[in-house]
Amino acid sequence: MKHRSETKAPTPLVDPFQRTITYLRVSVTDRCNLRCVYCMPEEGIEFQPRREILSYEEITAIIRVGAAMGLRQVRLTGGEPLVRLGFVDLVRRVSGIPGIEDISLTTNGIALPRYANELAEAGLRRVNVSLDTLRPERFHAITRLGRYGDVLQGIAAARAAGLSPVKLNVVVMVQVNDDEVLDFARTTLEEDWEVRFIERMPFMEEQETCIKDTSLVPGFVPMEEIKGQIEAEFGALEPSQTAAGHGPARYYRIPGARGSIGFISPMSEQRFCESCNRMRLTADGKLRPCLLTDHEVDLKGVMRSGGGEEAIREGILQALRTKPEAHHLWDGSRPRWRRMIQIGG
Ligand code: SAM
Repeated sequence: MKHRSETKAPTPLVDPFQRTITYLRVSVTDRCNLRCVYCMPEEGIEFQPRREILSYEEITAIIRVGAAMGLRQVRLTGGEPLVRLGFVDLVRRVSGIPGIEDISLTTNGIALPRYANELAEAGLRRVNVSLDTLRPERFHAITRLGRYGDVLQGIAAARAAGLSPVKLNVVVMVQVNDDEVLDFARTTLEEDWEVRFIERMPFMEEQETCIKDTSLVPGFVPMEEIKGQIEAEFGALEPSQTAAGHGPARYYRIPGARGSIGFISPMSEQRFCESCNRMRLTADGKLRPCLLTDHEVDLKGVMRSGGGEEAIREGILQALRTKPEAHHLWDGSRPRWRRMIQIGG
């Protein structure tokens, strides 16, 4: 017998501002094996109890309904997704959902040597690895727990497993790593990496334990400044057609380089939200139409009180109807309830 969601005609997920939502980012855990200074406190963080985290069956059920409504891409993230037991099995389940055309992963890369092959076999297509510095001692200082060499091995393992492209996410922060922009750009001359510079966004960590002295909160570096630095060194960047994706990054290439350079500028680009095509599912089962606005729809509550596919579908539509036109970081508005790690970066 056919699954009900497979027989339902797809309804495009169009929000009130005529943006079509095709992409769901799913956080599978709020736990992480690193403690990056700009993301998490070193200790004292309260993780959700296991029972509050969506099971793989629940995650799969939501994606299945979403796919019948027009979702096409799923990115699995966290916390650190690879620390959750049985993660490869989730990838396998998601890749079997009709309508899902692309499954990707955001990871710190540390566990990729162990899992890259299995992930590729299970249906993972590509991977984004977070790497904020190319200096081993600085890597340890930023992540508090990590070893730079482990990430490099992770990147190599991803490539060897055929996960492609490998994108590197670099959050550029004043006086933390802003002196490495040119070094990162230079790596694209020889490596076919996509290096993506990201402006740091403010979350609730500023208000509490993560960084107690708010004057130490690392500021973001505007993308125009970063692009200017790169062009002063390497010449005018060429827009890159091959790297262009469906997300918010704008891609360029140093003339003649093998790799490309992406810019993600939620803080400085006024029209950043105009092309938003995504929603987010938190590890504890809240569907969040916007990363940077606190409104959420409690899909876990819906499912655990007996709601089936129709109720999930209604929850997804409710989130869609309330997707804001844009975030309000410029007006000083901040996500108040959750850190990035609790939403899924
Ligand atoms: N553990 C995985 C990883 O390291 O990629 C996935 C979760 S992590 C929260 C996802 C991404 O969010 C990372 O690239 C991280 O650098 C980024 N991130 C965390 N806090 C951020 C912030 N305040 N502004 C911008 N990016 C942030």
